[in-house]
Order: sequence, then structure tokens, then C-alpha cells
Amino acid sequence: MQKIHLLHYGELALKLGNRRLFEERLAKNIRALAAPLGRVKVKRLYGRMVVVPETDMDDGELALVLDRVFGLAYHGQAYMEEASWENLERITAAILPEGEFTFGVRAKRAEQTWPKGRGETERELGAFVVGLRGWKVNLTNPDIWVQVEIVNQKILISIEKKPGLRGLPQGVSGQVMALFSGGIDSPAAAFAMMSRGCHIHAIHFHSAPYTSQESQDKVVDLAQALVRFQPKMTLHMVAFAELQQEIVKNTPQQFRVILYRRYMLRIAEIMAKRSRCLALVTGESLGQVASQTLRNMQTVDAATDMLILRPLVGTDKEDITKMAKKAGTFDISILPHEDCCSFLMPRKPATRSRIFEIEKAEEGLDVEDLLWDTVRGIETIQLS
Ligand code: ATP
Ligand code: MG
Repeated sequence: MQKIHLLHYGELALKLGNRRLFEERLAKNIRALAAPLGRVKVKRLYGRMVVVPETDMDDGELALVLDRVFGLAYHGQAYMEEASWENLERITAAILPEGEFTFGVRAKRAEQTWPKGRGETERELGAFVVGLRGWKVNLTNPDIWVQVEIVNQKILISIEKKPGLRGLPQGVSGQVMALFSGGIDSPAAAFAMMSRGCHIHAIHFHSAPYTSQESQDKVVDLAQALVRFQPKMTLHMVAFAELQQEIVKNTPQQFRVILYRRYMLRIAEIMAKRSRCLALVTGESLGQVASQTLRNMQTVDAATDMLILRPLVGTDKEDITKMAKKAGTFDISILPHEDCCSFLMPRKPATRSRIFEIEKAEEGLDVEDLLWDTVRGIETIQLS
């Protein structure tokens, strides 16, 4: 019998319309995320998939990789063998644990040549287990579900079914550029978009030399944490202090944050278009801070005509914290670091701004050349 991992991707696949693309992408992502362990083969089998290790690897570690694959409804270790009743009984006997348990059998059949019906298979295999172990049947909440799938002249048997990350396979929705600060929210936002099939590129604006190297390292660590879910990521580091200083010198202080944000978006847009990203992503949540009111979001948006996605806009800190913990970024985000230095931050930021006011404030700026110098100075890091 062959030890494999059995994957189910649920109905989402069908809704996407292009199922083949979905499956191919899922298989590619699994191979890439499992690459540090060794080589795996991913086979499609009528609405499910099996992962077969081709090099020596630890099953537990492979299961941990599958925990991080978007697009899976369930996964679990399973055994595959030629479809026959003898094989079914033999494998079942081999994989049942010792001890006292309640159990149930669930069978699925996508195979016309299998001689028994679904119910018949369940009852007869159940009777076999009772005879073998003396266990009690419980069909509502058993300790162990013995799951049998008969497909493509193979039987797949499993007593394990772990919930997957769900969502869509990474990459099926295209690429996006995530504005990535060192906070809790923006990595959670990037993770949310990953879960909807986006391949993430990240861009961070730092205020060196006014902020420390550690605050930049932290952003790299955050991006690295997300690389556990997406095999590769580009991270752009933008030296933003000079532009910020021009804004501080030449514009009303209450608009500073909005103006920073507008310039961040303009630079992010340039980088996004260079890597064929279709949208920008931010970690804003409505009303969380002064810069995140509807009025201010609107004035910030007006700086670019690119689509801006704010997956956290309708969520609160508790939801965001949960998401960040799931992404594995929370513990890194809460490490102390200076977001920005106090002289760059306004004492009293505006909570309402109008586009005409902001455009007027920008007239006091002559930063076109500086903007392009800033873009040329961007340092790009490839994470894998
Ligand atoms: P976060 O927890 O993501 O830092 P926040 O609650 O601190 O968010 P803001 O500082 O208002 O909120 O930032 C709003 C969004 O703007 C961030 O979620 C992020 O997408 C983007 N952003 C803010 N600062 C930066 C930065 N230095 N570099 C890149 N993006 C940034
Ligand atoms: Mg922040």
C-alpha cells in the first residue's frame, strides 16, 4: 500500500469556472511549498488530489506544509491501493490504532466497476471493524471516522481529516502590491488577499536615518512569515524620509499623514504597474485612526486611479488580531519599534479632508524629481 496525502478542495473550485487552472495552480503551489522537504508528485483524481512524496520526507512535516496551502478544504494522511475488497480490509486492519474507540465508516464512490454500493460498503467494512476490534459504532460523533474513497480503480483509505486553510489557491486571482508597514494590520490584510488567490508583492516605506535598521528588519521578518504561505515574495524598501521632510516643510501639518499616504500610493502604483499588479492593498480599518475616516480614505484614493483593496475595512481589532495570528505575523508585529519619528508626525492630524484642500496643499510641493529619485533608490529584496 502506498502512503499518500489526500486533499479535498471543496466546491469553491467549481464556482471559479476554470477548474483546470485552479487545480494546476494548487498542484504547483503544493510542489513549491513542499520543496524544502523534497520532491512530491501531485495527482488529480476526480475532484480530489493526492500528494505522493517522491523523496524521503517526514509525513508530519508534509502535513504542516499542507496546513499552509490555500484552497484546501481538508487534507489527511491516507493509503492508496488497487481497488479490491481484500485490499480494503487489509489496509483498514493495518491503520486502525490499538485501544478502545468508537468509530464510523464513510464511503464515497466515483468508480463504476466497484461491485458494492456506498451504503453496502460502509456496513460491510463496519462489520469487519467490529469483528476485528470489537469497537462500537457511532455515526454522529465517533472518535474515528474510517473514510474510504473508491476512485479510478483505486481505494483511498484514511482515518484522518484535518481542516485546510480554505480560500483560493494563491495566484489564481492575479498579483497585487501590498503596502506593508511594521504594524499588525497590513500583514493581516496581505494574508487576507492571499487567501483570495492573490500573489502578493510588498512595499515598505521607511524613514531612515530617522528610524532604525531594526524597524526595517522587522518588516523583512513579517514578509518572511508570509513566505510560509507563498513560496516567493518581492519586497520593495523605499527610503521615504526626504519626501516626508519636504512635506513637513511645505504643507500644513494637519494634512501631513494624508500627504504621506498619497505619495506612498503614487510610488506603490509605479512599482505595481512594473510587476503587473492589478491592485494595491492596505491594512486600513474604518475609523481606527484619524487617517482612516471615509473622508480621508477618499482623498488618499484620489492620488491614484489604481484599484485599492482594503480587506480589513469592516473589521475590528479583534478580528484583525485573529487573522494576524493565523498568518503567524502577530508576534512579530507587536515587537516594539518606531513606526516613524515624532517630528515627522503631526500633533493634530485632520480627520476630515477634502480633495481640493489637499490638492492645494500639494501645490506647495515641488517634488516630482524627488519622487523619481526615490523610486530609483528603491531596494528590492527577493524572499523565498
Ligand atoms: P498597520 O498596522 O498596518 O501599520 P495602522 O493601523 O498603523 O496599520 P496606518 O499607520 O494608518 O494604520 O496605516 C494604514 C495603512 O497604510 C497600513 O495598513 C499600510 O497598508 C499602509 N502604510 C502605513 N504606513 C506604511 C509604511 N510605512 N509603509 C508601507 N505601508 C504603510
Ligand atoms: Mg502602522
